[in-house]
Amino acid sequence: MSKVIAVANQKGGVGKTTSAVNIAAWLGAKGKRTLLVDIDPQGNSTSGVGLDRRSLKTTTYDILINGAKGADAVVKTAFEKLSILPSSADLAAAEIELADIPAREAVLKNALAPLRAEYDFILIDCPPSLGLITTNALNAADSVLIPVQCEYYALEGLSQLMNSVQAVKRRYNERLELEGVLLTMYDGRLNLTQQVVTEIKKYFPRKVFSTVIPRTVRLSEAPSFGQPILYYDRSNKGSQAYGALVDEILKKNR
Ligand code: ADP
Ligand code: MG
Repeated sequence: MSKVIAVANQKGGVGKTTSAVNIAAWLGAKGKRTLLVDIDPQGNSTSGVGLDRRSLKTTTYDILINGAKGADAVVKTAFEKLSILPSSADLAAAEIELADIPAREAVLKNALAPLRAEYDFILIDCPPSLGLITTNALNAADSVLIPVQCEYYALEGLSQLMNSVQAVKRRYNERLELEGVLLTMYDGRLNLTQQVVTEIKKYFPRKVFSTVIPRTVRLSEAPSFGQPILYYDRSNKGSQAYGALVDEILKKNR
C-alpha cells in the first residue's frame, strides 16, 4: 500500500516544487515506485522532470474537472521508477470550476485510490494557496510535508496552514498526519538563519526533519534541464541533502 504525501505551504517560493521533484526522484532511485502529482497550474514539477507541457493530452485538470481517470494521465519519466500526473495551465480555472462538482473536496482522493496499489509513494506538489485544490491534496494524503524557507517571515502563514490541515482532518480525513517540516534554502553562515531555525523548532517540537536543504544554485539550475538534481549533479550538496532526507523519510515509514 502506498504512502501519499502532500507537499504544501500556501506561500510561494519556499521550495515545495524543488522538494517534491527531488524527494520523488530520490525515492525512485532508491527503488521505490513513485508517482509525482502536479496540481499547480504553474506546472514546474511537470517541466522539472522533463515533460513538454504542450504535448500533454490528459492532465490533473482533466482528473479534477472532466472526470478523467488517474491511469489515463500517468506519464513515465526518463528517471528510475518515477512517473508523474502532469499539470496544465487550465488548472488556474479549476479552483472555481471545482465548486460545482459533487464531492468536490474528494475528487483527487477518489482518482488516486486505484493508483495506490501501483506505487510505494505518491508525492503531491501543491499550488501556493489554501483553496479547494490544496484541500483536495490534503484530503487525498496520509501526511503533509511542509517546506519552510529559512528567512525572516518563515513563520508567517504557518498557523493558517496548520488550521487548514486541522480543518481537513476534522471534516474529511482524520488520519492525516504531519510528516515533517523541512528547512529549505538554509545558509548556516547567516545569524538570521539560526534564529529562524530555533523559532521553527519551538513552533513544531520534534517535527522538524534533521536534514536541512542548503541554498545552492545547482538546485535552481536543474529544472531548466528538465532533470532532478540527482541526475543533473548527483554529488552536489543539495542533491546529497535530498538523498539524506529521503533516508529519513524511509526510516520513518518502514
Ligand atoms: P515553490 O514551489 O514553493 O513555489 P520552488 O521549489 O519553485 O518553490 O522554489 C522557488 C525558487 O527557489 C525556484 O527558483 C527554485 O529553483 C529556487 N530554490 C528552491 N530551493 C532552493 C535551494 N535549496 N537553493 C537554491 N535555490 C532554490
Ligand atoms: Mg511550486
